[in-house]
Amino acid sequence: MKLKIIPLLVILIVGLSIFVSGCTDAGDSGNNRSTGQGAEISGNEEPIIVAVSVVPQAEFVEKVGGDRVKTVVIVPSGADPHTYEPSPKEVKEISKASMLLTVGVGMPFEEVWIDRFESMNSDTLIINCSEGIELKKLEGYHHHEGEEGHDEELETGHENKSEGNHEELDPHIWTSPSNAKIMVEEIYEGLVELDPENEAYYAQNRDAYLEELDALDTRIREKLEGKEEKNFMVYHPSWGYFAADYGLNMISVEIEGKEPSAQDLTELVDLATEKDVKVIFVQAQFSTRSAEVLAQEIGGEVVAVDPLAKNYIENMDSVSDIFARNLV
Ligand code: ZN
Repeated sequence: MKLKIIPLLVILIVGLSIFVSGCTDAGDSGNNRSTGQGAEISGNEEPIIVAVSVVPQAEFVEKVGGDRVKTVVIVPSGADPHTYEPSPKEVKEISKASMLLTVGVGMPFEEVWIDRFESMNSDTLIINCSEGIELKKLEGYHHHEGEEGHDEELETGHENKSEGNHEELDPHIWTSPSNAKIMVEEIYEGLVELDPENEAYYAQNRDAYLEELDALDTRIREKLEGKEEKNFMVYHPSWGYFAADYGLNMISVEIEGKEPSAQDLTELVDLATEKDVKVIFVQAQFSTRSAEVLAQEIGGEVVAVDPLAKNYIENMDSVSDIFARNLV
């Protein structure tokens, strides 16, 4: 009898010390700050690796997952998310993910990843962030009235693959704080599915961040009060969901994912004059050449706003300040 008890005790002690050192390791590798204040993290496992398509999704995952997650962003900031292809080293990193968060529309590389995970027979949880979000059509993907010749052109732009359908869905879902809230909820559900033990911790983080997003939305509404129906021009049409939320009207300079032609530019100058547009918004991931030409033509200026910044709330506050200042 005694002989059996002793090895069991040894196993228990060894097990306990592994548990304790496991906790310390998790603390050391903590690349994320903890947002939880009441619920304790349980379990001694390695952080959950979550691969995401674009930077703002990583922010949402870290806000909900706190110290339990490690994020890998498939499209680094500075790269054009619509055409980006990961390097072999990045492929290796992303392959380790337990959860993959896609944008769900307009990102061709995501299909490659979903196929890859499926062919690896991995149990990676794939979450489509567009689910539950009311998708809208992408601006700049329509025929301009009176314009000719576009039908004959090759559709090489914005992953336009739907047999000549010029009405693509807008993938920039995260630029609306209310969409961000839906994404946060989806992330929470995914993390609970993978790690039900820490449900209370995730719930607490989620609730705190949802509150911050609500406060952000209120601030933006206050800043943009009286700006409803105002028109703004942007080189790459990233701000459609933002515009829809706050009653603004976005005009895309880029047409079907391409630089505007000389004729398009002439039309845009007329449109800007007619709509009283003085500022052309641009983002670092795209060329600003035609935006500058356009700004010069209308005697306006080019202003940078970043839809892919990491610190979502701070960035959206500064973006809305810029919009408020420039929509006159
Ligand atoms: Zn885009």
